Amino acid sequence: MTNNFKLKALVATLALAGSIGSAQAVSIVINNINAAGVGFNDPTPATPVGGNPGVTLGEQRLFAFTYAANIWGSTLNSNVPIIINASFEPLTCTATSGTLGSAGATSVFRDLVDVNGNNVGIPGTWYGGALANKLTGEDQAGGQAVIRARFNSNLGTTNCLAGSPFYLGVDGNHGTMIDFPTVLLHEMGHGVGFQTYTNGQTGAQLAGFPAIWDHYMLDNRTNKLWVDMTDAERAASGISGNGLSWTGANVTAGIPGVLSRKPVLTVTGVSAGTAAGDYAVGEASFGPVLANPPVTGQIMPVVDQANGTGLACTTLSAANALAVRGNIAVVDRGTCSFNIKAQNVQAAGAKGMIVVDNVNAALSGLGGTDPTITIPSVRITLADGTKLKAALTKRSRTSSGVIGALGRSLNSFAGTDNQGRALLYTPTTYSPGSSVSHFTTDATRNQLMEPAINSDLTHSPLLPYDLTYELLKDIGW
Ligand SMILES: [Zn+2]
Repeated sequence: MTNNFKLKALVATLALAGSIGSAQAVSIVINNINAAGVGFNDPTPATPVGGNPGVTLGEQRLFAFTYAANIWGSTLNSNVPIIINASFEPLTCTATSGTLGSAGATSVFRDLVDVNGNNVGIPGTWYGGALANKLTGEDQAGGQAVIRARFNSNLGTTNCLAGSPFYLGVDGNHGTMIDFPTVLLHEMGHGVGFQTYTNGQTGAQLAGFPAIWDHYMLDNRTNKLWVDMTDAERAASGISGNGLSWTGANVTAGIPGVLSRKPVLTVTGVSAGTAAGDYAVGEASFGPVLANPPVTGQIMPVVDQANGTGLACTTLSAANALAVRGNIAVVDRGTCSFNIKAQNVQAAGAKGMIVVDNVNAALSGLGGTDPTITIPSVRITLADGTKLKAALTKRSRTSSGVIGALGRSLNSFAGTDNQGRALLYTPTTYSPGSSVSHFTTDATRNQLMEPAINSDLTHSPLLPYDLTYELLKDIGW
């Protein structure tokens, strides 16, 4: 949906038992620690919805939790039950953004020894309680919960994303509401190990030891793993934009079956010179999705401003129309909406449109809705646009000798680095609870363990939908 619906990871320190054991590969026990009358015990009458038969708000919340617990229960393997302490309570929220839930391991263990006295796991490395129990085959946590999970009790009320309450059905028909089973799956994912226990903001390890995650997190600019870095180096990679990659073999192998190929502008041609190569592009929300074989043509600029730029906000002049006809038009961002530019170059006969940003900023897409647009449109950065335009200066009225192909990369996937490894979420401003311990928001299809919920998620953490279970396999599940 939007980046305002946050799903947070936390490292917590550690009743009323609503105990549900699933009969699959690991038993998951939900400890409802809400007081009587609130949260999972809320007696407000409710109408059964979407496969959820509960007749009170509390019953429906617990039913959804059991549904999600059964999904993880049938996915993971362990002979030690996973105990979760869970509650609904007020979490950070405003009218326009809010935390949906947060969860994490309550306890971590290192230098693991299994029931036969054998060392298991990587020495000197923290494992969350659930995974430590699995690897050793016995309960390291003395019967205590290994996961603490909280969900926002105010969601959907005035001043807390009023239009977006939790959908408590289990059929995925959440419409514009927030799908609670998805939130539950996400938070349980953190709880069973989808998080580092190292401080992503300072880089400081927990009590001087790395987390199992830190053996798989690589700064893709320095080629250093988190376990081999200084605190400062770890902190820098945590705010690197797209500089932090996951090296685990299961995730990497799963990527081609899960993620889409990156959209790309490939520039070739006798006059391309140093502008030749692949350009990252932001896709448009109108017009056809980029596909292969690519849309190919001479790249020709629209020039309709005194300073040499082209806005294409009005019907193109005869000279501009001649230039772009049958070709790929280059226009500049600004003054009018992107779909108006697309309408004008399309009307002149262009077969595609490249919008050059007008400010130095991170690459983003082209918003807007317009069913009349039939040509593909993309956005490139100002720096890339400047480089590309420099190759167009010696053009004729109808050709430039610079060929563009708007399609999809043959070898790289949306949400990966240039070595085909999954990127983690590392915005340049550190976001507590979100940075590092999630997949990048650039992933397409959207992934369960991105920092914000997306409305197109399935309830599966498995291939070919999702890489979450692959990452858990990488760390030892
Ligand atoms: Zn999260």
